[in-house]
Amino acid sequence: MVDPAFFDEAVSIVGPEHVLRDADVVAGYTVDWTGRFSGSSPGVLRPGSTEQVAALVELCRRHGVALALQGGATSLSGGTVPLEGEVVCSLVRLWDLEVDALSGQASAGAGVRIEALQSAAERAGWAYGVDLASRASATVGGTVATNAGGIRVLRHGDTRAQLLGVSAVLGSGETVSHMSGLVKDNTGYHLPSLLCGSEGTLGVLTEARLRLVRRSPERVVALLALRDAHAAIEAASDLRRGLASLSAVELFFAPGLALVRGHTGLPDPFERPHGAYLLVEASADDDPTTELSEAVDALGGVEEVAVALDATRAGELWRYREAHTEAINRRGTPHKLDVAVPMGAIAQFVDRVPGVVRDVAPGAEVWLFGHAADGNVHVNVTGVAPEDDALDAAVFELASGLGGSVSAEHGIGIAKRKWLHLSRSPAELAVFGAIKSALDPDGVLNPSVLLGG
Ligand SMILES: Cc1cc2nc3c(=O)[nH]c(=O)nc-3n(C[C@H](O)[C@H](O)[C@H](O)COP(=O)(O)OP(=O)(O)OC[C@H]3O[C@@H](n4cnc5c(N)ncnc54)[C@H](O)[C@@H]3O)c2cc1C
Repeated sequence: MVDPAFFDEAVSIVGPEHVLRDADVVAGYTVDWTGRFSGSSPGVLRPGSTEQVAALVELCRRHGVALALQGGATSLSGGTVPLEGEVVCSLVRLWDLEVDALSGQASAGAGVRIEALQSAAERAGWAYGVDLASRASATVGGTVATNAGGIRVLRHGDTRAQLLGVSAVLGSGETVSHMSGLVKDNTGYHLPSLLCGSEGTLGVLTEARLRLVRRSPERVVALLALRDAHAAIEAASDLRRGLASLSAVELFFAPGLALVRGHTGLPDPFERPHGAYLLVEASADDDPTTELSEAVDALGGVEEVAVALDATRAGELWRYREAHTEAINRRGTPHKLDVAVPMGAIAQFVDRVPGVVRDVAPGAEVWLFGHAADGNVHVNVTGVAPEDDALDAAVFELASGLGGSVSAEHGIGIAKRKWLHLSRSPAELAVFGAIKSALDPDGVLNPSVLLGG
């Protein structure tokens, strides 16, 4: 039970319009994007500056109140859910954005949407290197907190690779800020890297200094139909090696394609179903169509190819891949198991997953897609009760047994806490605990996430 005086003081910090107490309004902040995880909260705070965040963290420490942090609330691991009745702290009002065209960098508030950052970068003649299907809602703070990956990792790296600095309010109440944007700066521990991927358990990110990348204005998109997962992984590897302009290579399968078609009304891209599909994008200064065609011609196992000759068709081909997440959610509350597997084991993993799932959950439906060049397979399972996690265990153990990780890019959140030990040794977990104690000694930040539970 939170002391009413807590909310009175919160009002004095952020203003009455940014302390939400109406139960119906608050309820909208307590369920995750997939609908699988939910909690409860006595209220939502919406700070508008780093100073306000610092004052709120101090307030929480005095009252023994914990915060559940939220950005765009697109987490696919339940990371935003106030599982133990935490007060929700939404960072979406931190929306200052400044592009420094000379250095090719941006300073972005935690609440800036990725799409807005991408547009601002483009207006300045640059691009932002991270892109993901949730771009219209996902925020800078949330993507840094989860070290988001997405569809451009093969060319530009993950969010951590873009990160030059952050401002953050630690759980200890201190504000750390390192925003000068120096590309070379070897002066000890790199706190931005530590906070990146910490899932809001160490500090509230309020701003980030991000590197921008060169724009590649000419792009071509092709959808390849392949014999099976083995051929698709071979092809993805060959494309990485041989196609300099390769900017994305995404994997999906016939059941997912049929589901997406049912959801979107898109036509079948080919006359018959195939064993696997690769969505391939090349982008460069000059039209890369010829280069892409030659690279595709040299691949083995390709049964059919659809090439987009204009932007509308390119958007359609991308939609076959990007609509997977929403189409699966429409099918039923999914178990989302975003694993990474060594490249040499992906095809084997893909072949074995459906059987492993059905052994423990006979009525389950399995939907697979992923970022083919990163060894990242998204295993989605519908038709199983949200709280039944036997299949989660089976899939994580399969991935781990093949040398993989229980989270490629979505983070641990609350969904995978039970299986973190499959990817991290006791010594590593002890270090995690020591870092958490040092930076958030009272456990006020995201206590239910990552290490909690
Ligand atoms: C359709 C769809 C497609 C997606 N595709 C991808 C993909 O390709 N790659 C990928 O990596 N992810 C993907 N995601 C997952 C999700 O978009 C990412 O995890 C994203 O980084 C979350 O950003 P957010 O602003 O919504 O953060 P939230 O969901 O609000 O929060 C995510 C985590 O970060 C913490 N957090 C949020 N803001 C802050 C802050 N300011 N300071 C400290 N902690 C904070 C939260 O407590 C939570 O633990 C997808 C999601 C959807 C719905």
